[in-house]
Amino acid sequence: MADDLPYRNAPAKYKSKVSTYFGFAKNNDKTVICKQCRAELKYVDGTSNISTHLSRHHKITEIGSKSGMPETLI
Ligand SMILES: [Zn+2]
Repeated sequence: MADDLPYRNAPAKYKSKVSTYFGFAKNNDKTVICKQCRAELKYVDGTSNISTHLSRHHKITEIGSKSGMPETLI
């Protein structure tokens, strides 16, 4: 198996759904990389960033945050 991916898989303590779609950057624990499009996201406070990215870019909403929420209304 080739091992040239730009990310490493998330440690098992992370939610499995997240690690299915994201890996951590090899040299930075605060950055996660989308396995679908290789976008780099900050891993700040939980997975809200990640679930937002997945739902907006890949129509994946199974990660946890409520689905069907509209864009923020001002
Ligand atoms: Zn992506």
